[in-house]
Amino acid sequence: MNTNFNHQKLCSLLVDLYGYSNFRPGQEEAIGATLADKDVLVVLPTGAGKSLIFTISAVLLRQEGHGPTLVVSPLIALMEDQVRAARAIGLRAVAIHSSLDAEQRREAEATEDPHLIYMSPERLKVKRVVRWLLKRQVSRLVVDEAHCISEWGHDFRPAYRLLGDLRQQFDVPVMALTATATSKVRVEIVAALGMRDPRIVMTGIRRENLVFRVEHCASGRPARAASLLGDLKGGRAIVYIQSRKRAASLSRSLNKAGIKSGYYHAGRTALARTRAEAAFQDGRRPVLVATSAFGMGIDRADVRLVIHMGAPTSLAAYYQEAGRAGRDGRGAQAVLLYSAADVMAVKRLLGANPAPSAEIEWEAMAAYAWATRCRQQVFSRHFLDELGEPCGLCDCCVGREHVERGLEDARVRSTSRAQARRTARVVADTTEFTASQVDTMVAFVGGLKRPIGKGLVAKGLRGSLAKAVKRKGLPSNPEFGALKGLPERAVIRALDGLLASGRLVPKGKKYPTLWLPEKRVRPSGVARKPSAPPSSLMAALKRLRKREARRRKWKAYQVFTNATLEAIVQGKPFDKATLLDIKGMGPVKVQRFGEEVLELVR
Ligand code: ADP
Ligand code: MG
Ligand code: ZN
Repeated sequence: MNTNFNHQKLCSLLVDLYGYSNFRPGQEEAIGATLADKDVLVVLPTGAGKSLIFTISAVLLRQEGHGPTLVVSPLIALMEDQVRAARAIGLRAVAIHSSLDAEQRREAEATEDPHLIYMSPERLKVKRVVRWLLKRQVSRLVVDEAHCISEWGHDFRPAYRLLGDLRQQFDVPVMALTATATSKVRVEIVAALGMRDPRIVMTGIRRENLVFRVEHCASGRPARAASLLGDLKGGRAIVYIQSRKRAASLSRSLNKAGIKSGYYHAGRTALARTRAEAAFQDGRRPVLVATSAFGMGIDRADVRLVIHMGAPTSLAAYYQEAGRAGRDGRGAQAVLLYSAADVMAVKRLLGANPAPSAEIEWEAMAAYAWATRCRQQVFSRHFLDELGEPCGLCDCCVGREHVERGLEDARVRSTSRAQARRTARVVADTTEFTASQVDTMVAFVGGLKRPIGKGLVAKGLRGSLAKAVKRKGLPSNPEFGALKGLPERAVIRALDGLLASGRLVPKGKKYPTLWLPEKRVRPSGVARKPSAPPSSLMAALKRLRKREARRRKWKAYQVFTNATLEAIVQGKPFDKATLLDIKGMGPVKVQRFGEEVLELVR
């Protein structure tokens, strides 16, 4: 569209619609980008004000005569909230979902010229619904809580996967919004939605007004929670707890102690849940005890305290849930009441064979609980791969010695099993390797047929017979099992050291794998056929490029630049990892064109 907007116009709209005087970080940039017809990925913390971004752009698009904005949202309650909020500021907004009866649906569908249409991803599987939307000439596809697309996210929703097709059908710019900032999730969102050269709007994950604390409790967590809640002066509090049964019983005992609370979990009836939420919202029961089923997208600005009775299964989930405190920018606290027993509960939740991503997330969660460095730095390191400044607010920043003493006590107190685990961890963290052991690691990598991840290298060195180890043929490596008995964590740490010193090099961008510097990666097993003359490969690649460009109405260079094609002809990538090493081939392009390019190279 014509970028017929400017700072002044946006600001006056902000005042007129919302009565706010300033945009928050990232908002204006994201609005500007989508109005300029760019695909936009917005990664902003919970409470940063993401809905305002697509609401304002929807209004401007409508003013310029464009069609409504379609917002895909995972939860009915969330949709209803947002529709209410939009109507409250005078916009036409409808939510179309499975809870409407025929009459309500007709009414919603008959709404003239809506600014915003909310739908669940499941609705969009219905052909009739898609046809209806096409008739309405939707001008933007907005995907809220977009981490639901990603298997690396903690709220994976299969129906979100279909949005990529929908986007192609509508052929309109797309905006995805999420509070989950890990690069894996980002990459997956961009790929799954087929975003083209997206603008990524991302501010830090810092929360300037939020005090993060961890307390290690052997027992007596309910009493501790009650005492924290008792200190609360005004506002709301959410207590997250893993088990439905304990949600109900904790709420009961809080009420007995004079703390007015309700409880919320997915096992209750819709009516009971609505009531619990209403009593929380209107302040009759300002404390809500809930499982993780509660809260995605809640717009409650005055939550002063979020308590976790035990750690959730991932640091991302913890950050999201804890981040619901203090959205109004005023002082608030997020307290994790952690116990060694949580480890067992999480193990049960994750099952016997958790995905590696789930294990990494849980490790990160546990590391957070045992950290003695700034909690917010732990988040920055995990989500953004950078440390940033200490927050100056959290328990570690304010009283590190106190935290250390607490951890010491927890260690002494903890059950023998957990104690053993942690002793093992300390041993792992202090293991030093001899020079010859280090040489063994390098030799092992030298004996690989192709690059593999460091976890697998460590397993191979320790002689593990896990499925993945066998599949990669590691038992035939001469150094297989050479470091038997040494802790895996320690081996991985040593491999990191070898990467840092350059004796090993990473291959691949998305999932770094280990390799020797200078060694060429060759296809394993099959002897390579003499390759066709490069010129014919180049010609084939150019044909592919032309075809794809025509199909997508792109310029040829937007598919591949000449430099990229030359690099492919030169480098002869043989799998997705080696293809990723080619300049100009990002994860999105690999996902989109990778198979065909590899086929041509073959
Ligand atoms: P998110 O989706 O990012 O978690 P929301 O869109 O629910 O956050 O917004 C959280 C709160 O911040 C809402 O009450 C919203 O009205 C408020 N808000 C958003 N933008 C601004 C702004 N520029 N100035 C003041 N308050 C804002
Ligand atoms: Mg939101
Ligand atoms: Zn801190």
